[in-house]
Amino acid sequence: RHTTETAAPVAALSLSDVHHHFGRHPVVKGVNLSVEPGEVVCLLGPSGCGKTTLLRIAAGLEVLQEGRVGLEGETVAAPERRHVPPEKRSVGLAFQDSALFPHLSVLENVMFGLKPLPVPRRRACALERLEQLGMADYAETYPHMLSGGQQQRVALARALAPEPRLMLLDEPFSSLDARLRDRIRDDTLHVLKNVGAATLLVTHDPEEAMFMADRIALMRDGAIVQTGTPRELYCAPCDPFVVTFFGEVNELYGVVENGEVKTPVGTVEAGWLPEGSDAIVMVRPEALRVSELDECGLAHAHSHVVMAKLLGRSSLIHLCAHGPEGDEAHLHARVPGVFLPAEGQTVDIHLDLSQVFVFAAPGGAAGA
Ligand code: ATP
Repeated sequence: RHTTETAAPVAALSLSDVHHHFGRHPVVKGVNLSVEPGEVVCLLGPSGCGKTTLLRIAAGLEVLQEGRVGLEGETVAAPERRHVPPEKRSVGLAFQDSALFPHLSVLENVMFGLKPLPVPRRRACALERLEQLGMADYAETYPHMLSGGQQQRVALARALAPEPRLMLLDEPFSSLDARLRDRIRDDTLHVLKNVGAATLLVTHDPEEAMFMADRIALMRDGAIVQTGTPRELYCAPCDPFVVTFFGEVNELYGVVENGEVKTPVGTVEAGWLPEGSDAIVMVRPEALRVSELDECGLAHAHSHVVMAKLLGRSSLIHLCAHGPEGDEAHLHARVPGVFLPAEGQTVDIHLDLSQVFVFAAPGGAAGA
């Protein structure tokens, strides 16, 4: 829907300056977030940061205390306004503990949300959704006969069946084992994109968010820290929390001199940090290219191997790097393929600067 010929499309969901507290405990602290038509946005963050509360506010399951919730341009919750209840918001919901109707079969559960349609159409549509989520064989069984993961897939099929304009999904894959999870994620994304549903999906798993999302909103302690494409968050993180949320990271410390920070594994540009300030240099394990001595000619530093383990698709190598000024650093490197140097062996390290990030050191002058 467009307000004028040239205006941007109206957001499927918009949350404006939303605050929420339980008792005296603030849980959501001024969140602004929109989901555009057809877009999948993942709300990512550690346990307890307020993701579910925000999703419940969007769904109308939690009464809004402060801010505004808009669906396709219409205000459905704002102070001093009538709260539009969940069933009137035309939103598909699948929550971690989505209860199926115990007295209805799997097929009837999925058909339930399609009420206005004639029975044969409802049946065909429900079966198609079950098929897409690998549950068609269970159409005639009852919820209590299904595993947690199977129930979750039926709940997803039920939420998706009416092809809602907006889907709100809270950890929809949490009960699935790792192998099945990959397949169901893939299938779900396919269905969401086919239906063209705008989606807000809550997860604490960065890999899941990277896979599912057009955009990720990373939350910490009730506030959004950074919003962007998976690539923007991974390759251009705005602060150390964003870097560490996507995996283990080596942390080195140094002082900014002539716009650079020297570390035992190489010199990196200090960006906007002021001269003389303390800096933290964050180096992803994948940023350390480890090679046999003198092999690549690009070496920035020599290191000796403290421990090396083959993990299958990659090797984990613990290193002790020796800088030119006699400084030392202990680092973890993750090297693709089978590369297993001996303990004590000297190796070369080359730094992939696209996976190295420099910030003001916490508590340092520039960080103040
Ligand atoms: P998780 O990933 O563990 O589900 P989350 O990021 O979704 O966490 P929320 O479930 O939104 O976080 O909870 C945020 C905070 O609010 C937590 O400290 C939680 O204990 C608290 N909380 C949530 N619901 C209630 C409630 N009904 N009453 C009181 N406190 C609550």
